[in-house]
Amino acid sequence: MTAARGWQFFMHPGPTNIPHRVLQAMQRPAVDFTGPEFVALRDRSLERLKGVLKTQKGCVIAYAASGHGAWDASIANLFSPGDKVLVCQAGYFSENWSVTARQYGVEVEAVSAKERRAIEPEAVAERLAADKEGKVKAVMIVQNETATGTRHPVAEVRAAIDRARHPALYLVDTISSLASYDFRMDEWGVDLVVGGSQKGLMLPPGLSFTAINARAWEAAQVAKCPRRYWDWRTMVEGGRQLRFCGTAPIPFFYGLEASLDMIEEEGLENVFARHRRLAQATRACVRAWSTVSSHGGGPEVYPLEAEAASDSLTAVLTPPGHDADRVRAIASERYGVALGRGLGALQGRVFRIGHMGDLNEPMLLGALAGIELALAEAGVPHARGGVDAAMDALRAPAAAKQLAA
Ligand code: PLP
Repeated sequence: MTAARGWQFFMHPGPTNIPHRVLQAMQRPAVDFTGPEFVALRDRSLERLKGVLKTQKGCVIAYAASGHGAWDASIANLFSPGDKVLVCQAGYFSENWSVTARQYGVEVEAVSAKERRAIEPEAVAERLAADKEGKVKAVMIVQNETATGTRHPVAEVRAAIDRARHPALYLVDTISSLASYDFRMDEWGVDLVVGGSQKGLMLPPGLSFTAINARAWEAAQVAKCPRRYWDWRTMVEGGRQLRFCGTAPIPFFYGLEASLDMIEEEGLENVFARHRRLAQATRACVRAWSTVSSHGGGPEVYPLEAEAASDSLTAVLTPPGHDADRVRAIASERYGVALGRGLGALQGRVFRIGHMGDLNEPMLLGALAGIELALAEAGVPHARGGVDAAMDALRAPAAAKQLAA
C-alpha cells in the first residue's frame, strides 16, 4: 500500500514528474493532423527542439513510440545486414541498443567500460585505429547510462574517432541526459541522436525522436535493413519531417510546446545548473550515508569517479547482503517515495534516485528524508545526517557565509 496521505514523491529516472502546464496543454480535443493548426505546431516544435539538441544543421524526426522505437529507427535507417558497429558498452541500455542492432543482422563489437567507471575514449580510438579496412560503420554511445547513473564522455569519444581518422558515423543516445545536462549535436560532430519524451522533457512516455545530419541522411539512402514504420524516406522531405507513418501523436506536440516554453523561460543553462545542484546534493547525501566507519560500509554512489556521476539520476549501491528492492518497497509503501529499481545485473543491488525534469530542492529533500527512514527500517547500515549534508550542498554560498558568521 502506498502512503495514504499527501504527495507521492515520484523520483523515478523516467518517466519523470509531468508539470500541470504540460498536462493541461495536452488535454484538448483532437484536431486534424494534416490541417494548418497542427502542421504549424509540429513544424514549430521540431524546430525548437533543435535548440535543446544544440543543432542548426540537424533534422529532427519524431515517432509515436517509446525510446525503443527511436533505437529501431536509428538502426533500420542507417545500416544493412552484415554491417558492423562499435558499441560503447556500459550497462543495461547500451546492451539493449546492441540487441536492437543484432536483431537487424548488424554485427556488434563492444568496447566495454570498466565496472563502475565511464567509457575510456582511448579504447575507442585504439579499436578504430585497428580497423584498417574501415569495416566499422558507426560508433554508438549512451551519454547517460540510466541503469548506473553514469555519464559517458561524448565529446571525448568524438575526439577519439577523429584521432583515429576513422569515417564511422557517430550515434548518441541522449534519452536520459537531454534537457538535464549539456549535449551539443553540431559541435560534437554527432551524426544521429536518439531522444525521448519522458525524462528531461517532462512529457509522458510515448514520443521519441532521432535527429540526423546530412551524413546520416545519405547513409539512409543506401541502407538495406527492412523498415516501414521508421522509414525516414517516407517521412522527410527537403530536410524536414512532413509526415508520420500513420496518425500523428497530436497531444504530445501540444505538451512539447508547453515543455519547451518552460525550458526556454528558465533558460537551458539554468535548467542544467538546477540539475547539477540537485545531483550534487543527492551525492552529498549518499556520501554521508556511506560513512558508517572510516572505511565506509554504507550505501554508495555507483560510479566511482565524481566526474562520471550523472546529473539526472543517482544510482545507489546497497552494502553486500542488503536488498535494494526492500529499501525501495519500504520507501514507496511507508513514505510515498517512488524510486527506480536496479536493472539487469544490478537488480536488488541498486536503487535509483531520479532527479531530473520538474523538480526542486524541497521535493528532493523530502524524498531523501523518506529514503533515509527506509534505510533505517530495512536495517541497511548507514550513517545518519544524509539530508543535512544535502542541505549543506544546496545552501547558496552567500547564505552559507551568513550562517557561518
Ligand atoms: N535509452 C536510455 C538511456 C534509457 O534510459 C531508456 C529508458 O529508460 C531507453 C533508451 C529506452 O526508452 P523507452 O523505455 O522509452 O523505450
